[in-house]
Amino acid sequence: MAATADETRVIEWVKTQLYIGGQWRDASGGGTLDVEDPATGETIATVADATNDDADAALAAATEAFETWRWVAPRERADILRRAYDLIDERTDELALLMTLEMGKPIAESKGEIAYANNFLRWYSEEAVRINGRFTTNEAGNGRVLTMRQPIGPCLFITPWNFPLAMGTRKIGPALATGCTCVVKPAKQTPLSMLALAQILEEAGLPGGVVNVLTASSSGSIMQPLIEDPRVRKMSFTGSTEVGKTLIRQSAEQVLKVSMELGGNAPFLVFEDADLDAAVEGALLAKMRNGGEACTSANRFHVHESVAAAFSEKLAAKIGALKVGRGTEDGVQVGPLIDEAQRSKVAELVDDAVGKGARVLTGGARVDGAGYFFEPTVLADVTDDAQLLAEEIFGPVAPITTFASDDEAIAKANTTEYGLVSYVFTQDVDRAFRVIERLETGMIGFNQGMVSNAGAPFGGVKQSGFGREGGPEGLDEYLETKYVAMNTGVGATKL
Ligand code: NAP
Repeated sequence: MAATADETRVIEWVKTQLYIGGQWRDASGGGTLDVEDPATGETIATVADATNDDADAALAAATEAFETWRWVAPRERADILRRAYDLIDERTDELALLMTLEMGKPIAESKGEIAYANNFLRWYSEEAVRINGRFTTNEAGNGRVLTMRQPIGPCLFITPWNFPLAMGTRKIGPALATGCTCVVKPAKQTPLSMLALAQILEEAGLPGGVVNVLTASSSGSIMQPLIEDPRVRKMSFTGSTEVGKTLIRQSAEQVLKVSMELGGNAPFLVFEDADLDAAVEGALLAKMRNGGEACTSANRFHVHESVAAAFSEKLAAKIGALKVGRGTEDGVQVGPLIDEAQRSKVAELVDDAVGKGARVLTGGARVDGAGYFFEPTVLADVTDDAQLLAEEIFGPVAPITTFASDDEAIAKANTTEYGLVSYVFTQDVDRAFRVIERLETGMIGFNQGMVSNAGAPFGGVKQSGFGREGGPEGLDEYLETKYVAMNTGVGATKL
């Protein structure tokens, strides 16, 4: 398929080399890596394929830059983040096109991600000047407790392909605000958005070495030596639970402080007193955002048996009417999956559920032709042993099961090793709180299908990980607390 003039312009604008110490350079081995448009399967760009020497140079640059950046005035750090925010805001259209080309999501969703991603830069630009310690009198009254909060040091960031910009800014925003530096490794399928961000940060006046970007085909061999390197003080990873476990093991070597934003298996609970139309709208958002390729994606719908038929019918009508296609086309609401492996996995999960008795209300199959498209699908009467209730689907498939009581709904919701987010739809606030307090997830959408918000702590429990991104909690991840026990010479009065 011939690229349009806009597509060519935006692809030619992105620098495809490694960004190390403020320099754009080829990989030391001269290797490159192709980036594909998942809607066509065609190569759209070729980026540098970093070697271990490049990775070491990136960490050296981040380590050196830390000694300067940490002492830069908070207001100056804030101003750079804010300038980057303004530049991204001005270029939303171009960045959205770039994101859609490498990741596949519809342009409107790419714009939504860019606004969300950018908000982390703005939010943390506002926080950079409000990093406080405390000064208190000790219990005995004869000394003072002083705490200071200092940047933790050079960080490693590893991000996934499903939100190519936001998963980066959720880490980079707070890190830069606190005075940390970093080496970022985006997913090999979607490196362009991160390279574009590096260009913009450079334009906003960020000194060389504060952010370094490595694109690589073999993440494991590039990153392991860095994870085990004593110069690194923090790693933040967003990706699958399986890879997260490997990285946690590697991080033990240096007792590295880590944050893990891992997989999910979000339950979406609809009680008999829910506003069904609102629940369907929430379900559409929770399920179909990013074509279902989101860690927060509603993975299973547990609906009270008295309203299950009505809810299923309404949801199937909405999901069946969604327009599938290349994300750059007008009116498209669902793009392709990221690759053939992901599409095959989704197809196998649907086949397994149907083989065990689920009814297909809409969709259910691959879309023929170029790209990795799968029909938006709703399955009713899904049995408890269906594999897709236990696994992250990561595709546009909504499986519906029923429950008869609140206790059963909660038990079903918690029957998973994951614990990222759950959604609760009910008009009874007392019931909502009874349920919410018993749900084993780090986040809850209460009568709403989306939880992401730069000012709120995003993160999971159980095997969905630990640490939080966003809000004041997100800043804490990049700060060490240093305590000074002060002998002030001021004594306490004895009664
Ligand atoms: P993934 O396979 O775990 O990859 C994530 C990142 O880790 C990529 O940059 C990948 O590089 C890199 N990686 C893979 N193996 C590695 C290794 N041995 N050492 C170092 N880095 C390694 O996950 P994905 O398929 O890209 O993303 C989907 C997953 O992310 C889902 O499970 C989803 O739930 C999760 N996710 C979680 C959140 C959250 O906030 N909780 C948000 C978004 C996504 P390559 O590209 O080179 O493989």
